[in-house]
Amino acid sequence: MSRLRLILGDQLNINHSWLREPERSASRDVIYVLMEVRTETDYVVHHAQKVLGIFAAMRGFSSALQAAGLKVHYIRLSDADNKQDFIANLRQLIDIYGVTKIERQQADEYRLESLLLKAPDILGVPVKVFDSEHFLTNRASISRQFAIEVPRMEFFYRELRKQYNVLLDEKHNPIGGRWNYDQENRKRWKGEPALPEQYKLSANLAELWNEIQTCNVKTMGQAHAKEFPWPITRSQAKAWLAHFMVTAFPHFGEFQDAMSTASPKLFHAGISFSLNIKLLHPLEVIRAALDEFNAGRVGVATVEGFVRQILGWREFVRGIYWARMPDYAHLNVLQHERPLPRWYWNGETNMNCLHHAIQQSLDNAYAHHIQRLMITGNFALLAGCAPDEVDAWYLGIYIDAFEWVEMPNVRGMSQYADGGIMGSKPYAGSASYINKMSDYCKNCHYDHKLRHGEKSCPFNSLFWHFHARHAKLLSTNPRISMTYLLWQKMSESERRQTLAQAELYLNNVDNL
Ligand SMILES: Cc1cc2nc3c(=O)[nH]c(=O)nc-3n(C[C@H](O)[C@H](O)[C@H](O)COP(=O)(O)OP(=O)(O)OC[C@H]3O[C@@H](n4cnc5c(N)ncnc54)[C@H](O)[C@@H]3O)c2cc1C
Ligand code: SF4
Repeated sequence: MSRLRLILGDQLNINHSWLREPERSASRDVIYVLMEVRTETDYVVHHAQKVLGIFAAMRGFSSALQAAGLKVHYIRLSDADNKQDFIANLRQLIDIYGVTKIERQQADEYRLESLLLKAPDILGVPVKVFDSEHFLTNRASISRQFAIEVPRMEFFYRELRKQYNVLLDEKHNPIGGRWNYDQENRKRWKGEPALPEQYKLSANLAELWNEIQTCNVKTMGQAHAKEFPWPITRSQAKAWLAHFMVTAFPHFGEFQDAMSTASPKLFHAGISFSLNIKLLHPLEVIRAALDEFNAGRVGVATVEGFVRQILGWREFVRGIYWARMPDYAHLNVLQHERPLPRWYWNGETNMNCLHHAIQQSLDNAYAHHIQRLMITGNFALLAGCAPDEVDAWYLGIYIDAFEWVEMPNVRGMSQYADGGIMGSKPYAGSASYINKMSDYCKNCHYDHKLRHGEKSCPFNSLFWHFHARHAKLLSTNPRISMTYLLWQKMSESERRQTLAQAELYLNNVDNL
């Protein structure tokens, strides 16, 4: 009799109770299994760094388990007997090891969870499911709650602050007197303070990259295999986090929404990959941030802004995903059908903001939140691109993209395809927002001040086109009533020229 424990590529949590003593010593008959399979490399075109990073981290994790004396069966992508599919590989392993019971952790993605739920019937072996012990909310109860009514993120987040006793005074009121310091976290970065020094990592993954290419896995973007820039082990992830806390965190809050051609990351943490593959636990990240605040090295607006992302948004999007899947993946309330412009795949556009945001994403597999929301997402929304295509692009290009977190952010927050489940209004912005928060417009082919005419910024006319064509659905939304008031105040001729300009751009969208 033998027990098989399946560990997925985003379940590299060395502190899971499976791997803790005395559970470990009591489980001598257990074989731990990790596998690299084509069904995972091919369900979307991934960024080269995403495939490399996940496989390298899995291989490192497997070595750590073996070094701790555990029995591990690791299936590499290029192994001759790799069936390239979870179920087929499990069937083979059942025969090899005489497996009588499978254990696994809850998969975070609906696609995988649905597949693995079928495993007992297909394989004829019982499968016990364990919590991944990673998140701060319980999946079953949050799914039940969110299926009835999705609360506003702000209230959900306050409840979690109370539950985890985060940033509260002795009377359980928010420290500093306010729950939310968002208003203070909206500064443009003008070159001061100096940019934080980047944490340098340089694992040589050339051999693994060669193997991935020999297997003909289709990827996008730069691999940077010889000097891989992301953490792939827990110790690297911890060192990266510690470095962020000292160098960038003090200014995270102020410049959270800023964008600059001088730096892709500015003062952001770059920890989403480590969190999502579970090299880091969200609570340890929050505690590290609270330590900085308690030591007086960061202010309340910064620490609150940071905690809100992890304790609030990250758990919130997961709740929406699990409550609303599988229907959520098909929502398209605005009935957007346009293909994504071809320059999303190479960054070759005259729009400087999009050129920068896409080029840096292809180079680094990373863009920060406001670049994803107000540049690439904003344009796709205004141009009316099909949410399926937008989803696939985001799911592929970012190293941290796993569907449970990608989809609510993209289909919900950014594309408003869910009609307001994620957010109470569409995140649509014109050039005036982009110019306010970045230096992109300075050197752009287009003029951010113009609404129509040859050099007019496409964001301007498309912004009004978007609101005009969705007036029936959106004009009654009190959060954007001011936008419709401004539209009505424009002269008839101004409105006509603006819409005509937008049509011109939409008809030529691949060449902007
Ligand atoms: C259109 C769009 C697509 C996105 N796709 C993804 C994705 O595929 N994977 C992903 O992890 N995040 C995604 N996000 C959320 C957010 O942009 C990234 O988590 C963040 O940019 C990662 O960089 P960072 O670690 O430097 O984040 P920081 O800005 O330093 O924030 C710290 C952490 O907070 C968490 N966080 C912040 N905002 C969110 C959010 N809206 N939802 C969930 N967690 C959040 C992340 O874990 C992040 O690492 C998306 C946002 C948008 C608008
Ligand atoms: S002018 Fe328009 S297209 Fe150019 S950078 Fe500014 S917002 Fe982007």
